[in-house]
Amino acid sequence: MGTREQMVSRIWNSTDLWSDLAELCGFGGRFCGTPSEARAREYLRERLAAATGAPVTGRRIGYEGWQRESCALARLGAGAPPLHGTSLVRSPATPAGGLEAEVVDLGRGTLEDFRANEADIDGRIVLVRHEYMFATGHVHRRQKYLWARERGAAGFLISSPLPGQSLVTGSSGEGGPYDIPAAGVTQESAAALARVRGRHAQSRLEIRTRRAPTHTENILAEIAGRGPEWVVLSAHIDGHDLAQSAMDNASGLAVALEVARALAPFVPALPRGLRVGFFTLEEWALTGSRIYADSLAPAECERIAVNVNLDSVVGSPWLTALTSGFADLDPFLHEAAAASGLTLRTFRPLMPNSDHANFARRGIPALRLVAGFDEPDSRLRYLLTPADTLDKIAPAELKLAALLTAEIVLKALTADGPVAAHKTADELRAAGHAQ
Ligand SMILES: [Zn+2]
Repeated sequence: MGTREQMVSRIWNSTDLWSDLAELCGFGGRFCGTPSEARAREYLRERLAAATGAPVTGRRIGYEGWQRESCALARLGAGAPPLHGTSLVRSPATPAGGLEAEVVDLGRGTLEDFRANEADIDGRIVLVRHEYMFATGHVHRRQKYLWARERGAAGFLISSPLPGQSLVTGSSGEGGPYDIPAAGVTQESAAALARVRGRHAQSRLEIRTRRAPTHTENILAEIAGRGPEWVVLSAHIDGHDLAQSAMDNASGLAVALEVARALAPFVPALPRGLRVGFFTLEEWALTGSRIYADSLAPAECERIAVNVNLDSVVGSPWLTALTSGFADLDPFLHEAAAASGLTLRTFRPLMPNSDHANFARRGIPALRLVAGFDEPDSRLRYLLTPADTLDKIAPAELKLAALLTAEIVLKALTADGPVAAHKTADELRAAGHAQ
């Protein structure tokens, strides 16, 4: 059997793929700074060492830790129902006694919605809706938050995509002095805060948090190939504490381990080496991978042929590669998928929604593999809610993601010539990347 056939056979017959996923989900949501994240890192270190047979290094990251203490939300006035919210990641605390302000409901919260209500925002709490994240035309929560903050909003609320008292979470500001209190709320609470008889609802939001300097680590291992170049396979470790962060991103971690295990015996004889990077603090504005990418000297960036980043690779049988503006990646990926008769869609514009964006920013060809792109009814709609749990994952989808990733990585490890052209500093500036 050739390398490819052995790789496919190993993945096809693997039971480790599912057991790694289940173990990772068993640690809980892996919110940064919690014992859940620490236990997951410990597990990943051991499993990555076993998968690669190579030394595993942890790269320490100091950061300003942030934990929730409480979040209370109320509509003021007699007979108002109790409301439910959870503070968004790194929200500042409100003053003691809470923030009292009127709520301005901007519906979905597009730029047009903000512009149409320009005079109504200053000093009020903005209410918008969480949208399905993997779709063309989607407006990200962070964008809506920034529009609210720059218009002088006193606070920010985002309503869950799911009915039935389901909360939603996600990141908000940068942890800096200009941040405003921010929370995810249930659909039912959002409805209770909507305008009544043309008047804005008066409400009180009280958020308590704990902040303290702490540290975590990125986890890396590498198997050298025959030449000086590398393929970086990555997935983010951390998640949210509403559930198990099963799809986002225990799935990516389990698939990366599986692909490393399946390819490890062959890499030393292949033209390029395989480096596996498990980055943390992804849910905190991609911090872990930013620190890693910024640590690379220009010559090291040149030697990375491609970054294949796995984030939320199950929840639908259909996978899309977000190719970050690197045009030559599209045909490369279609050929890799076709090798095993798999279907892969590609989407070219840079979507800075996971760790691949930090590689792309350094000019390195980088892609994110994601399931459910432009499929708002897929199980990916449960991301960032209490429903992102192991039971949402079909074993066949996980295996499919592993097979497709392995085809891509093997082709990148063996390809003659560049996988795709790196971008020069001028090209990066023209593409809008800050350097
Ligand atoms: Zn993710």
